[in-house]
Amino acid sequence: MASGEEVHAIGIDLGTTYSCVAVWQHDHAEVIVNDQGNRTTPSQVAFTDTETFVGDAAFNQIIRNPTNSIFDAKRLIGRRFSDASVQSDIKLWPFKVIEGPDDKPMIVVTHMGQEKQYSAEDISSMVLLKMREIAEAYVGSTVKNAVITVPAYFSDSQRYATKNAAITAGLKVMLMINEPTAAAIAYGLDKKASWYRKRTVMMFDFGGGTLDVSLLTISGGIFQVNATAGDSHLGGEDIDSQMVKHCVEHFKRKHNLDIDGNPKALGKLKSACEKAKRRLSFSFSTDVEIDCLYQNTDFYITFTRAKFEEINKDFFNQCMVPVEKCLKDAKMDKGSVDDVVLVGGSSRIPKVQQLLQNVFEGKELCKGINPDEAIAQGAAIQAAVLSGNGNGKLQDCSLLDVTPFSLGVETGREREMTVVIPRNSSIPIRRNYTVTTRHDNQAVVKFAVYEGESKTTVNNYFLGDFRLQDIPPAPKGVPKFNICFDIDASGILNVSAEDMLTGQKKGITFTNDRNSDGIERVMLLM
Ligand code: ADP
Ligand code: MG
Repeated sequence: MASGEEVHAIGIDLGTTYSCVAVWQHDHAEVIVNDQGNRTTPSQVAFTDTETFVGDAAFNQIIRNPTNSIFDAKRLIGRRFSDASVQSDIKLWPFKVIEGPDDKPMIVVTHMGQEKQYSAEDISSMVLLKMREIAEAYVGSTVKNAVITVPAYFSDSQRYATKNAAITAGLKVMLMINEPTAAAIAYGLDKKASWYRKRTVMMFDFGGGTLDVSLLTISGGIFQVNATAGDSHLGGEDIDSQMVKHCVEHFKRKHNLDIDGNPKALGKLKSACEKAKRRLSFSFSTDVEIDCLYQNTDFYITFTRAKFEEINKDFFNQCMVPVEKCLKDAKMDKGSVDDVVLVGGSSRIPKVQQLLQNVFEGKELCKGINPDEAIAQGAAIQAAVLSGNGNGKLQDCSLLDVTPFSLGVETGREREMTVVIPRNSSIPIRRNYTVTTRHDNQAVVKFAVYEGESKTTVNNYFLGDFRLQDIPPAPKGVPKFNICFDIDASGILNVSAEDMLTGQKKGITFTNDRNSDGIERVMLLM
């Protein structure tokens, strides 16, 4: 690099439906416009006989090419094919997803006349590469360093897979931060000059695929997350699907025609419903009209806002559950929250705003930040802080986030979950835990690591396992093993175990791949 050349560090909000990239320049976080002149870019990739399209170009051809146009990759990333949410999503997607090795979901497309398989990481890395290119075109040089955001409620394997996608896109991930925290940074930096004391804010981030709620205290430049809660599978996409379902039933009733299983017709409906949903945030009634939807039959329906609210009632009520949980976890009273800040495109829905306002007993909600851009801006601010590109304005900005799930090991005959790091612990964090053998002369111990809040591991999410072998013969309870859980600032977990007598050590970072060594579970521990 030539001396004097500025090294740009960018912030990328990799959304389920839209992504956004920003860079710190001229004393503020600038959202970068893409080649189509848009400030956000659809998180979509499409494959054709001759090309691969990413972003707007993919979005614009989806109705012509529904089975090879991939969206919602973020709903697959870091998940297993057998996960219930994956199984239910697959039923709604026009593209094909099959079970790959190690229970990994693989997307099947026809590209240049050949059948090809892509993982969710592959698709996400193409979107991230596109965002990187958008930034490079703007700053006029190569960009490598980036802060990437993930939903606060993303699990360890979802974070790990996202990081890998970024690395594949040629990015150096300086840090991964939680989306609501990023939005809080953008909000706080903008507003804090007028604050005289510590401020408690709740970020309510309702996007296309996820809902995240975080409670923070902002004091000076320190952003401390007190608690986070959410739903990693609740967003605008679910609302669209619910509307599509309603339309399919309407069409069946009216014309006795079933379009279920017809990707082209369903794609047209989805796109029309999403647009109608947006209109319903501002008007009380709207029409969905599609000429020749199926078998030369036109489709027509009127959605009133009341009807829209009725069919999505359960989703909207579900949105309030994490709000209450977050307050409870933070041991905070509603009255002590200074600002409730709306983030994410779906936070524009009036019913959602009304329910949220009810929770806070009529308190006015903050609509002062751009719900589509604040996350990328916060990430860009953090990138500037980390790269030293920020000026005085950013010097005192620091971040203390938390881990969303409890993490622990399985112990005992009853498959108990022994928590090593409780949820909402500040990260980075390192915790040790000592265990021993259950049988005399036990030669092997296996450490199975889980994530979740249930007392038994059966109901928690299995992250992976590993074993220590060749343990010298000893009566039960004598050998001692030190298990170390280490969560880095990006929220990624490493676990290692050491035989304190022999010094034998083993550890893993968890990938989504199941450990399939086929050896039977060895009873162990405690
Ligand atoms: P993500 O980051 O998960 O992609 P965004 O925060 O970008 O999500 O929000 C996208 C979602 O917001 C989409 O489901 C979109 O349909 C929805 N959305 C955008 N504008 C509106 C609006 N005016 N009313 C209701 N929903 C909206
Ligand atoms: Mg988002």
